[in-house]
Amino acid sequence: MTRYIVERGPVRVMFSSLRDADRFYRASPLVDIEGEEKGDRIVFKVRLADNILNHVLVISGINYTVGFPLEFARGVDIETRAKLYSSGLREEWWFVAASVLGSEADNLDELLEVLADLEAVIHEGAEPSKVRLAIPRERFEKIVEAYPEFNATWDSYLEKKRKRLSRETFRLLEKTLRNCYRSFYEKYWERRGKELRKLSVKLKKAVDIMQPLKTLEDTVGRRFKADELKVFPVDVFRTGGGVFGVDPDRIVCMTSPSAVLDIHLDIAHEAGHILIGDWRIRYADKVRELAKDIEYSDTYKLAYIIEEHVVALIQFKVDLKYYGEKRITHGFMGNRVFNLADEAWREIENQYGRLVFDEFIELFLEKLAVDKEAKQTLLKPT
Ligand SMILES: [Zn+2]
Repeated sequence: MTRYIVERGPVRVMFSSLRDADRFYRASPLVDIEGEEKGDRIVFKVRLADNILNHVLVISGINYTVGFPLEFARGVDIETRAKLYSSGLREEWWFVAASVLGSEADNLDELLEVLADLEAVIHEGAEPSKVRLAIPRERFEKIVEAYPEFNATWDSYLEKKRKRLSRETFRLLEKTLRNCYRSFYEKYWERRGKELRKLSVKLKKAVDIMQPLKTLEDTVGRRFKADELKVFPVDVFRTGGGVFGVDPDRIVCMTSPSAVLDIHLDIAHEAGHILIGDWRIRYADKVRELAKDIEYSDTYKLAYIIEEHVVALIQFKVDLKYYGEKRITHGFMGNRVFNLADEAWREIENQYGRLVFDEFIELFLEKLAVDKEAKQTLLKPT
């Protein structure tokens, strides 16, 4: 008789079935946290709208995930996946998902209303009512002022969106969401929605004890402008994936049973983008010089690539305070641009006794401008 043995610390368990042994080996333990709840300016909200939309986007390969069980990758048939994947949603998924995240949509009907509103804004020039545009007009105009190479007006910006998010694409998305809900998600959500609400109570306790937003603010030396950070758990992002946020105060987060142990990473990263994002406008000239130097055609995109390294560094610094040793939790960690940012960070800390973010970003950009290897890395960051 064959026996499969799994040892975990002091526990040794024997199985006659390989499947059971494998399941036991892979099973994640339930994780919780206890301690003094000092409070943090964070609230959690579980909504069907974000969950089903991101489910559809991930299942059709437009966005990605880490750790989502394949058995739940259901509700969208293969042809529809292919149609969605070849639509303009692939380029515009963030704009759509972040515009929904910013809205008050909760159930399916409200989600469809928000999407219809988005369609009216893009195709009829309507004023947004239910949708909260991921990049509203005032924000867009500030960006164009700082980055005139965009050579765009609000109308030409919407024109581009009209092509990518055609009426046909909106119909396809609407139909897919309805079918997904009817054939799979409604039933699935009955159970999973409850679990996520339980998880979000745990996460709220975790952030009240760990205070990751406060730690982020202390690390960067800036205060988060909104009254509170609103965090939306999304089922399809279990241990990773295309997690995102939207100005001024909303992010999505991961939802594995061990999310309590990782929530500070989501918050440090996504709220980190929101906390420092204004640098892109203020240092546009420096970014432009760098873009010319390395012959990078899209200046604004280069700003984002630089920012992603800075935010990876912030995530690293925040994680170090909790985890107690250095570890890699983002793909850019350890590359030349990241290391240069860390160098600038430490120099500013030594000089001022704390981090002064504007001084840091200036020094970092100066260092980037004269570092050949870092400039190569910007062209192909991994
Ligand atoms: Zn990021």
